[in-house]
Amino acid sequence: GSVFAHLVQAPEDPILGVTVAYNKDPSPVKLNLGVGAYRTEEGKPLVLNVVRKAEQQLINDRTRIKEYLPIVGLVEFNKLSAKLILGADSPAIRENRVTTVECLSGTGSLRVGGEFLAKHYHQKTIYITQPTWGNHPKIFTLAGLTVKTYRYYDPSTRGLNFQGLLEDLGAAPPGSIVLLHACAHNPTGVDPTIQQWEQIRQLMRSKGLMPFFDSAYQGFASGSLDTDAKPIRMFVADGGECLVAQSYAKNMGLYGERVGALSIVCKSSDVAGRVESQLKLVIRPMYSSPPIHGASIVAVILRDRNLFNEWTLELKAMADRIISMRKQLFEALRTRGTPGDWSHIIKQIGMFTFTGLNPAQVSYMTKEYHIYMTSDGRISMAGLSSKTVPHLADAIHAVAT
Ligand code: PMP
Repeated sequence: GSVFAHLVQAPEDPILGVTVAYNKDPSPVKLNLGVGAYRTEEGKPLVLNVVRKAEQQLINDRTRIKEYLPIVGLVEFNKLSAKLILGADSPAIRENRVTTVECLSGTGSLRVGGEFLAKHYHQKTIYITQPTWGNHPKIFTLAGLTVKTYRYYDPSTRGLNFQGLLEDLGAAPPGSIVLLHACAHNPTGVDPTIQQWEQIRQLMRSKGLMPFFDSAYQGFASGSLDTDAKPIRMFVADGGECLVAQSYAKNMGLYGERVGALSIVCKSSDVAGRVESQLKLVIRPMYSSPPIHGASIVAVILRDRNLFNEWTLELKAMADRIISMRKQLFEALRTRGTPGDWSHIIKQIGMFTFTGLNPAQVSYMTKEYHIYMTSDGRISMAGLSSKTVPHLADAIHAVAT
C-alpha cells in the first residue's frame, strides 16, 4: 500500500473552493461573486492596455536575458515600488532608510515579512482584524508568529467598531505587531476615516506597536493611488518604523504573475542595510530568488511617464466601475422594496461588499439562484455587471423577505 494511504482528503480552500463549485454548475445564469478578481462589464478577465504595451516592449528588446535575478529581485522595480507606496518625495526614501525586496505578490510579501519578524523582532504576537482575509492567520502562524485578533467590524452597523479597535490595541502588550489593511479592507469593505487613522497612529506609536501594512488594493479603492496610500504615509511621516506588503495583482491586473514587494522602513540607512541582509537569508532557502517577468512589466510602466499616466486612467476606470456596481445594486434593492437597510453597499469601499447575509441565506441563493459567494456573505462587486445586478437583487430580495 501507499505510504500516504493514511492521508485524509483536505478541504477545499474556503475562497478558491467557491470557484470550484461554480465551475461544476451547468446553469446558464450562474454568477461567481466569490473570486477577488476584476471582471469587465462583459464578465471577462481584463489585461490592462499598459500591460500589453509593456510586454510588447519587453519582447522587442533583444538584449533582455533570462538569468536569475538577485535574491532581492529586480532592483529598479524595488525602488519604483517604494516610491509608489511611500510617495516620490518620501523623506524615508531620500534618507535611504527603506529596504525593499521583490516577493511573490502580496501573499509572498506577507510571508517573508512574517518570517523576518519571527526571527528578528522581540515580540512574536501579531494582531489581525476580526474578521480578515482568510489567508492571514495561516500565513503568520506558519511564519512562526502567534496570531491574535482585534475588534474591527460591527455587524449591527455594518461599519467600523472603532471603540473596540482602540480598546483592543490599547490592551495589546507593548511592541506587538499589528496588521493593518492599508485600504479596501477585505472582507468587510470598511476602512477607518483619516481622522480615525490618525488616532490609531497615535495610539500605536505611544505603545510602540509595530505596524505591518497589507496593501493589496492601492488605487483600487478610491481610484487614486495617492489617496489609498495615505494611511501608510501618515505612519512613515512620523519617522517611526513599519513594514509594508504590496501586491500588483489587483491594481495592475497581474494576478498570475505573482508580483509584489515587501518594504521595511527603518530609522537609519545603517539599520536598513542590515535588515536587507537578513531578508536575503529568509528568502534564499524559501525560493532562492523571485520571478523576472512580472516585475519587469511593472518597472516598464512605473518608469515611463506616459505609461504611468495611462495606467492611472485604467485603474480609475476599474475602481469607477466597481463603485457604479454598488450604486446599481443599492438602487435595484430599493426599487424592489427589499426590507432592511442596504446603505452599507454604497458606504463600503473596494472590491467587496460584506452583505450581512448569513450562511443559510447564502446557501439558499446558491441553490435557487446559482449565485456563488463565500459563506460569510462577502460578494465581489468586480464580478457584477449591469446585466447581472437584477438577478442578484432578485436573490437578495427573496432571502431578505
Ligand atoms: N491581502 C489581502 C487583504 C488580499 O485580499 C489579497 C488578495 N486576495 C492579498 C493580500 C494577496 O493577494 P496576492 O498574493 O494575489 O497578491
